[in-house]
Amino acid sequence: MRPKIIAGNWKMYKTPTESKDLVEGIKAKLTFPLGAAKVIVCPPFTSLALVQSLVSGSAIALGAQNVYFEDEGAYTGEVSPPMLRSVGCSYVILGHSERRQYFGETNELVNKKARKALASGLIPIVCVGETLEQREKNITDQIVTTQVRSVLKDISSGDVERLIIAYEPVWAIGTGKTATPQQAQDVHLLIRKTIGQMYAWATAEKVVIQYGGSVKPENSRDLLSQADIDGALVGGACLKADSFIAIIENAVLTSRK
Ligand code: PEP
Repeated sequence: MRPKIIAGNWKMYKTPTESKDLVEGIKAKLTFPLGAAKVIVCPPFTSLALVQSLVSGSAIALGAQNVYFEDEGAYTGEVSPPMLRSVGCSYVILGHSERRQYFGETNELVNKKARKALASGLIPIVCVGETLEQREKNITDQIVTTQVRSVLKDISSGDVERLIIAYEPVWAIGTGKTATPQQAQDVHLLIRKTIGQMYAWATAEKVVIQYGGSVKPENSRDLLSQADIDGALVGGACLKADSFIAIIENAVLTSRK
């Protein structure tokens, strides 16, 4: 059975001092058994090493928010997969809509990064999702299918089973608007069917598909109860220990036995 995985995307928030406070707050409240659920925190690059020292030996795993597709070189401002591994990262968010919108990331670039991340032992959390305009034009299915097919290009079935897809409707990110559980479930099933067509249904059934877009304690239980929603990528609500923990509690509650 697929685990429920809750990942917190801290975006460009939290200095090292603030990161320490947040992680210590999360650790202090994470006193219940996670069962099959998993927790990941994705602080900014500047806090990764510090957060690693604080989560080491705990149930919390570490992720980054971006990575480049070369090991080293003259790529000013970029960070490589071995560098992320060296500070204890196991996961990396790729193709977040903010990276697509503000930094011009394309499906092709996200695919290149995902292949490199996998080859380097990192688990990519690959984001897909439609804009409001695309949803209103009724082309959500077409957009998401194209994104999934492009970002998974040339990735083996063994690797696809390890990665995470995050369905994040762009209109729901940071807006307070959430997809209804049924809207989200419909797209999650579409993503799983697309993976099934590309690989095999047995492979598709193993892929963790998270939902992201204004996930909060209040809406997380209904979202996480959907058959094909295997966790959440959380932005705003992960910046406070209380709300992040409440979402984790709902992941544990809704975990399939
Ligand atoms: C995100 O950053 O991936 C996200 C979904 O943000 P928020 O929860 O704030 O909408």
